[in-house]
This record gives sequence, structure tokens and C-alpha cells, in this order.
Amino acid sequence: MLQSKLFTKTRKEAPKDEVSKNAQLLIRGGYIHKEMAGVYSYLPLGRRVLERIEQIVREEMDKIGGQEIRMATLHPSEPWKQTGAWDGVDVVFKILSRTEKEYTVGQSEEEIVTPIAAEYVLSYKDLPVVIYQIGQKYRDELRAKSGIMRGREFTMKDMYSFHETQEDFDRFYAQAKEAYLRVYERLGLVAKATEASGGAFTNKLSYEFMVLTEAGEDDILYCNSCSYCVNVEISDQKEGDTCTRCSANGVLSQAKASEVGNIFDLGTKYTKDFTFTYKNKEGIETHPIMGCFGIGITRLMGVIVEALSDDRGIVWPESVAPLRVHLVELGGADNADVHTEAAELYRELTEAGISVLWDDRDARAGEKFADSDLLGLPLRVVVSEKTLAAGKFECVERASGHTSHKSISELIGHLTANG
Ligand code: ATP
Ligand code: MG
Repeated sequence: MLQSKLFTKTRKEAPKDEVSKNAQLLIRGGYIHKEMAGVYSYLPLGRRVLERIEQIVREEMDKIGGQEIRMATLHPSEPWKQTGAWDGVDVVFKILSRTEKEYTVGQSEEEIVTPIAAEYVLSYKDLPVVIYQIGQKYRDELRAKSGIMRGREFTMKDMYSFHETQEDFDRFYAQAKEAYLRVYERLGLVAKATEASGGAFTNKLSYEFMVLTEAGEDDILYCNSCSYCVNVEISDQKEGDTCTRCSANGVLSQAKASEVGNIFDLGTKYTKDFTFTYKNKEGIETHPIMGCFGIGITRLMGVIVEALSDDRGIVWPESVAPLRVHLVELGGADNADVHTEAAELYRELTEAGISVLWDDRDARAGEKFADSDLLGLPLRVVVSEKTLAAGKFECVERASGHTSHKSISELIGHLTANG
């Protein structure tokens, strides 16, 4: 990708009304465009990051047997009235058509997925079923000041599972928890699983996955010795208490965190609401046990920016960076050899399957480096008169600042070995 051709540009200042760091940096980098509070469009670089996050989530959900679908976004109001969510859930948008018919837009999809599954699951032989989608959600959120971390429109992976027995649900629930932890790890984040009560419909346990960040809206207590973690809101413990779970007498610390996913047991709430039954082994019509499993895709992108950026800009982990290499050409407009060398490097890297953003613009070194730091691609490779004379390019890792000098073949060898 040639930076001179990229239609977006970086900007020095973020919009005055944008208070969150994630949105400020992403807007300045040309990753996103703000439409209104809580609603953003994703521009070429931002869309690439989002797709890479989605792909990691997709791979991990497929590994545990998830089947991806794409559900409708515009919903009839009837199933929402049937479950009580039409009047009971405060974030549901309500749309009145010119024919006086009422609709809503997806804010979660139990009301859509349960009737879909009911149509295909007839016998115990058809269970378990695990269905997911990655798509847009719409919620009438009161506060939307956390940039892309809390949107009125946002992207979520929502997965739903249906089971014959509680044992089978528990088996899958444990697998899903592990899959979630793998997702966060692959994204370069450290997530803690809090134990929380399962919400309105069940007194069973649920997990909330939390990433420590000052920008988070939740307060958690976590043990400094074991993996125990709990949301302050529901806990009677406090900072400084001795952990009740671990043998090492760990101490609880309190911190701000952002919920990047949650999983819970819905029991038979929805399968009863939609009279969804299957014939069990004894031939008796039975309601399946249902679980739901959410991951905030756009929130994760915001959390990555919050958790990993520094005072110069964004620092993308390799796994989600929009492109791997920022090839920065310095003085190419005045020295044809520099430009030719940059073009050759761009060609060879691209042929080796390495994604490159080539800063081929006629601009000052200071401006180019500032942009490069702001955009945050993992490796900056500089081509200039100096590197031409040395016969090696200057390579700077964005995350660590580590600098090395490599020939084309060394560079390609390094990138293919680590990619
Ligand atoms: P929160 O407590 O943050 O409002 P929630 O309990 O409403 O989250 P769910 O309905 O379970 O969340 O949604 C699943 C995931 O979607 C959440 O864990 C979070 O990562 C993400 N999410 C929820 N609401 C938003 C939002 N308004 N904007 C962006 N992501 C969101
Ligand atoms: Mg919410």
C-alpha cells in the first residue's frame, strides 16, 4: 500500500469533543471517522485491524465447533415481546415504520437465534449446536464517552450454544473459557476471568473477561498470586483482603478494567419462551439448555490502543497490525537512487507475502517519523542516502524501539521467520 495513494491522512489534533485516548489516536491516525457520539466508521487501516481481530476470534470459535452464520440486523418486534425484552431491556432501539409496524435492530440475538435452532434441532442426536456470528449491534447506551469502547453501534461476536444436559453445557462452557483466553492472548492482551452472577435469568455462575486499563468502566479485585478475580460491584471483598481462593495467601488489588467478553448459562429461559423442544433418548419432548458467549470486537480494538499505546502513538501487536512494515523513504524526491531502492524493497517484501505501507510521500523526515509513530506498525524500515551508503536498512521495532541494520535478505529472513 502506497501512503501517497491512501485517501486518509494523519492529523495533529483530535476533535475537541473526543475525550477518550483510543478515539483520539485512531481519529488522528485516520483509522476511524466519528459520525456522532458512539458511532464510528472504519477507514482502510481501521477496517484491516478489525478484520484481523475478527479472524482470530473466528479461528478460535471454529476450533471449538462454532458454525458461523449471519443473522438479520432488522428484527420484527414480536419475538422481543415474547421474551419480555421489548419492555424489559433499556438499550433496545424501537423503530416505527410508516405502516405503524414496530421493529428493532439487533442488540443481542437470542430472539433470532433460538427460533432458527428450534427449526433444525428435533432430536437429542441433533445436539449440541454451537452457532455464532460477527456483526453489528445497536444499543441505546446513555453514556458514550469511551470512544470505540462503548458504542451505540459496535461489532460483537455473539455465540449461542444448545445442549442436552447440564454436563454437556459445562463441558462446552469450560472449552469456551479456554478459547476466550486464547483469543485475548493472541491479541497481545492479558485478560482475567471474573466470576460473576449470571444476570437476570439464572443464578448460575458466569465469566466476565477483563483487561486492566485506566480507560475501563469496571472496577475489579484481583489476586496478586492466583488467577482469582471478581467485579467490585458484586463482591463483599475489598482491596487488601487476603484471597480466599489461593493457597499462597495472595492479596487482592483493585484496578480499573474493561469487559472484553462474557459467557453465561441461560438455562432454559429462551428455549421455553420459544417452546423449543427436542425428543430426548426416552422420546420425551425436552427444552435444551442454552448458553451465550459474547466478545466485543470493536471494544477490543479500543482496549488494544488504550493498553499498548505510548505518548507518540499507537503500538499494534503483530497479530492485528493493519500492515507489518512501515517502509519510510527519506529524500527520495531529491535522490533517484533512494527512491529506486525503496521501490525494490517494497517489491521484494510484497512478493515475500509481507504487508507494507510505503511512505513514498515527499515530506520531511520529522513529519514522516511522527506519522510512523502515530500509525504504530510493528516495524519501521528506513531507506535513505545514509542506508544506501551502508548497504543496510535501518529497522526500528515500534514496541521496543530496538534498532538494527539489515540487508534485504536478512530483513525478509527475519520477517518470514517471525510471521
Ligand atoms: P457492559 O457491561 O460493558 O455494558 P454488557 O454486559 O452489556 O457489557 P454483553 O451484552 O454481554 O455486554 O455484550 C458482550 C460484549 O460486547 C461485552 O463483553 C463487551 O465486550 C461488548 N460490548 C457491550 N456493550 C458494548 C458497547 N456499547 N460498545 C462496544 N462494545 C460493547
Ligand atoms: Mg451493557
